[in-house]
This record gives sequence, C-alpha cells and structure tokens, in this order.
Amino acid sequence: MRKWIASFFLLPSLLLGQEAPNIIFMIGDGMGLSQMSSALFSGEGRPHYLRFPVVGLSQTSSSSHKITDSAAGATAFSCGVKTYNGAIGVGPDSLALETILEYLEKRGWNSGLVATSSITHATPASYYAHVDSRRKEFIIAEQLLSSPVDFVAGGGQEFFFSRLDKRNLYPAFADANFLLDTQQLQFPRQWDLDKRYAYLLAKDGMPRMLDGRGDFLPRATEMAFSYLSAKGAPFFLMIEGSQIDWGGHANDGDYVLSEMLDFDAAMGKVLDFAAADGNTIVVVTADHECGGFALVSEEVEVPFRGKQRDYDSLRYAFNSGGHSATMVPVLAYGPKAESFGGIYQNTALYHRLMAILRAYADE
Ligand code: MG
Ligand code: ZN
Repeated sequence: MRKWIASFFLLPSLLLGQEAPNIIFMIGDGMGLSQMSSALFSGEGRPHYLRFPVVGLSQTSSSSHKITDSAAGATAFSCGVKTYNGAIGVGPDSLALETILEYLEKRGWNSGLVATSSITHATPASYYAHVDSRRKEFIIAEQLLSSPVDFVAGGGQEFFFSRLDKRNLYPAFADANFLLDTQQLQFPRQWDLDKRYAYLLAKDGMPRMLDGRGDFLPRATEMAFSYLSAKGAPFFLMIEGSQIDWGGHANDGDYVLSEMLDFDAAMGKVLDFAAADGNTIVVVTADHECGGFALVSEEVEVPFRGKQRDYDSLRYAFNSGGHSATMVPVLAYGPKAESFGGIYQNTALYHRLMAILRAYADE
C-alpha cells in the first residue's frame, strides 16, 4: 500500500517534470582497475574515462558467493538486491523484483539496452527478465518481447529464431510493436517514434573486436541517444561492454584491451552526449573483475646481473580463468554525480540512483 501511494505521487511529477534527468548506466563486464589501466598504456591516446570527475568503489559479492557472477551482479544494479549467482531479476527467494527499467517505464520514461553479448545474456537480461537461472535464455528471449524496453541492440538471434521448442519468434517482434533488423545498424535514419527498435546482429554474442566487430558499440550507443531523445521523455539506457569479461576468462590480454578500448569509445560518445545535453547522469561500473588481471613487469636478462625486473616493460598477467572478489571502480558524471563517491555495496548504485530520482520528483 505504501509503495502504491508513493507511486501515485511520483507518477505526475516524473512525467511532467521536465527537470528529470536521463540515466545512462554503463557496465564493463569483468572490468577491474587493471583492465581500465591497460587502456593507459595502449598507445591509443588518452582514454575517455579520464574525463569522469567522480570515482567510487563497489563491493561486488553476491548473496550466495564471495565472488559474484554477472547475473547476480547486474541484478544488484537493476533491482537493488543482493541475490544468488545465476539469478536474473529475482531475489534470493527466486521471486521477481521490479527492475529500475520497469519502474521508470511505468512512469513514462523510455529505455534502451545495448550489449556486445546476446541481448538475452545475463547482464542485459537482468533489466527486463525474471528467471531463476541465467541458463534459461529461451525464456529470457520471450520475456524481452513482453518487456517495456524501447530500443535493444546486441546479438542473440538463435534464442528467438532457432529455438529448441521450434517456435520462431520472428513474427512476435511485429506483434510486440518492434521494428526488427538482423542485418545492420542503419544510421542516420528516420525514426518511427511510435515503434520500438530491435537490432539483433549475431547468432549469439557479437563478434570480438579482434575479429572485426568494428564500431558496433559506439554506433549503437549513438543510435540509442538519437531515438530515445527524439521520443521526448527522459530515458534510461544501459550499455554493456560484455566481452571485457570474456577476454579475462580466456586469459587473453589483447582480447581484454581491445574490448576495453571499444567500451572506452562508447564512454566517449556517452560523455559527449551528456555534456551537450546537460541533464544526463552517467554511471560507469563493472559487475566484477575477471581473470585476476594485472599489469606487471617483464623480467629481462641483464649481462653479468642475471634476471632483472624491467619496470618500463609491461606484461599482462592473469591469476584465474574466472571472476575475482576485488572491488571494482565506479565513475560518475552529470547532475548529482557526487552521490557516487565513496566505497559501498554494488546494490547502493541502484539505491543512490533512485534517491536522486525521488529528489527530483519531490521538487
Ligand atoms: Mg555480461
Ligand atoms: Zn564472466
């Protein structure tokens, strides 16, 4: 009842208040401080993330494990609740929780999800789906179609069109008011603002940067701004650099760096948009670190002195093929960005965002 009353009072002000900010929440899956730092030494110039004025640290453990997976990690961001590894948009009791995307859509906001994994993969799924296991990707696919999200871009065709239950969900996109494109990110384009847009451009995950993904992530990011800002209401947009994590699992430093630089390019687009817009909150974080990744020194043979560490020569080191329990960075920009300074639990990212929105609604 209390929740209903709160919603009743929030509804008109969030709908009518022109002052409510857009929210862009960026997740570098598996992006620890070393993954970020690798971009400093890439020879590709200054990373865009150096432009963020506010920094925090997030403690990532899930309700079930000291080391989280991406499902519990993203559900902490989307629902503000620590849940068990594998849980998508459900609490420790496996019951559905309302996500921030669903909450805002109910109040007249628009929303988008962009990922370099399948759009049904754990991170994006945690914003629109409610299942007890991340492995239920065919069910997650169905839940995307009945979710309120307005713009999606990523991979995942096989979960819609080559399903184990033999159903082809292709016609279901039109039924759900989606314009579907399985070929390319056509941009610039004329948006039909009464339609939703789905770009599914790979069978499962998008190709690796090392295999020629090109500018998919920064381009899909710009398309999301173009469409969502044209719709007029404030928007919530989640952008995931999904494969920083996969480079960590593969213990492949070149894979990590190339995905990190791609995510950084998306951060550049986001910061340019937010600076021009003037009323957009940007938060960047990771669900967890992956690989126990470190930037360490090479050992070199020095004549007459044997092996010596060369502190000017970097080598990628990995301590694990899995995730780690280390804290991860949080970067923030825009109105009330200072709320994200400090050291806190990953769920606080949700609660701090909601506190900011409530303050706007109360004004
Ligand atoms: Mg992910
Ligand atoms: Zn992972």
